[in-house]
Amino acid sequence: MMLSTSVGLWALVLLFFCLIALGAVLVLAVWAIVRRSRRQTCPACGKPLQPQYTVCPYCGAPVKRREEK
Ligand SMILES: [Zn+2]
Repeated sequence: MMLSTSVGLWALVLLFFCLIALGAVLVLAVWAIVRRSRRQTCPACGKPLQPQYTVCPYCGAPVKRREEK
């Protein structure tokens, strides 16, 4: 049964690519959520900051507001 074996192989390859696509979508979704949740980080020490802070409470570095144009 050569034909059924090759069809099964292609089905496996298709399944493999579907899983990769699904994984990529999941990673992108998680990344978007993480990125949205940590809007602002200190440019000096990298710690997460509240958006209203203008000075980092951890190291005292001035924080520039990242405004997207
Ligand atoms: Zn800092």
